[in-house]
Amino acid sequence: MSHAQILVGEAGDVRALAHTLAKGINCVNTSNPEEPCGQCISCRVFETGNHPDTFYVTKTKQNSIGVDDVRAQMIEPMSTKPFGYKYKVFIIDKAETLTPAAQSALLKTIEEPAPYGFFLFLAPNAHTFLPTVLSRCHLRKIYGKVNLNPELQAFAWEIADTAHTLDIIDAFALYRKFEPYKESKETLLELLDAIYHAYGEKITGAGKAGHVPPDAWLNAVSAVAHTKDVLSKNGNTQLAIELMLTKLSGNV
Ligand SMILES: [Zn+2]
Repeated sequence: MSHAQILVGEAGDVRALAHTLAKGINCVNTSNPEEPCGQCISCRVFETGNHPDTFYVTKTKQNSIGVDDVRAQMIEPMSTKPFGYKYKVFIIDKAETLTPAAQSALLKTIEEPAPYGFFLFLAPNAHTFLPTVLSRCHLRKIYGKVNLNPELQAFAWEIADTAHTLDIIDAFALYRKFEPYKESKETLLELLDAIYHAYGEKITGAGKAGHVPPDAWLNAVSAVAHTKDVLSKNGNTQLAIELMLTKLSGNV
């Protein structure tokens, strides 16, 4: 996992992910920061909001996070080792308000971080970052809720909630319920978006509750994204959807 990440998306979504990662990177029971155990001392202290090695970087003057802020709240603290855990974690919410000078001041810190540095920059989009910062960070785009047709949404949730219970025959049979939508590629893609978001919400919900989302959900998200890709390139609709459904049912 990259030591400096830019999380881009709606504020609620990026905060939820940052929360999970900040907790997970110091969790003593997992090697995957996306899956904090929620039980260990680090996870429990994190939940109190007083984790000694978690730093919430904020502006102290005016409307932006300036050079003085990053010096005092990031560069200085990085000069000493963590207090009790593996990483010093810096969460920079509203990172779009980092001034260019503040970003420049951070370059060395994020380029050659001490082995205990972990930085999470949260922003609505990546446009406000200097190219020099972008090139040193891993960029993750988080797709949040979109406005969807309620009928499609209901169908999408039905799939996300039940697909894993189906055997391979029933998974194939479920294709029939897609048929009314297959005439319009636009609608079909919208439906796939809705399914994608339904799984996404399940994963986010589990993360917020401190639970580990099952692999099946994570696999489902990539299966749906892949299907969308195939269909936008004019692949065979029935084949693509049936394959997706067998993947969602866990039968592949
Ligand atoms: Zn833990």
